[in-house]
Amino acid sequence: MKRSFFLFVLMFSVVTLAFSQETLQENEIADTTFVNLKDYSKDFVYDMKYATEENFLKAKVYDCAECYLRYKTVQALLEANDRFMKKGYKIKIFDCYRPLDIQKKMFAIVPNPIYVADPKKGSIHNRGGAVDITLVDAAGTALDMGTDFDFFGPEAAHDFENLTDIQKENRRLLKKTMQRSGFRIFESEWWHYNLKNASRNKLSNFKWNCN
Ligand SMILES: [Zn+2]
Repeated sequence: MKRSFFLFVLMFSVVTLAFSQETLQENEIADTTFVNLKDYSKDFVYDMKYATEENFLKAKVYDCAECYLRYKTVQALLEANDRFMKKGYKIKIFDCYRPLDIQKKMFAIVPNPIYVADPKKGSIHNRGGAVDITLVDAAGTALDMGTDFDFFGPEAAHDFENLTDIQKENRRLLKKTMQRSGFRIFESEWWHYNLKNASRNKLSNFKWNCN
């Protein structure tokens, strides 16, 4: 009797241990999970243009300003910001993950695929792997990149030559460090960076809570 009770306790312990290990694995964050950047760092500056009317759409398309990204995008962005901070700069964020419904809303306002990705194809923003960013200095002043964010013209392209030396150097600083941290440029927009291989992630319509 005593022996069977001992065996019961032993088996119960083994099962409990196995179960707790399984839940531990379940609690680990997958690379593709959507997370809020502000939960991982206080060192970013936010200027979420699409949560205001101060953007080329002249429309507030987000109910609230939050920077959600896939976990692996956040990890790479933290690495980039650490590198910038060592040089006295910080990343300022204009846009992050964008739910597919918001992409549809934007395309309905400006139905021109040169400016807004067609929601049928989607953008890397809809996959949680793209960020629109610039750099600010220690005083919080944005570096001169030659054009504003969402300036649609040849001046915004990486290969645009007619810039001052300072503007070229600022773009190069942004590009070099983002590339070292796992991001890829988007040729026609100096502010847009895609995490490498992010096009493999699914388009998403995950929506964050604004309450
Ligand atoms: Zn973008």
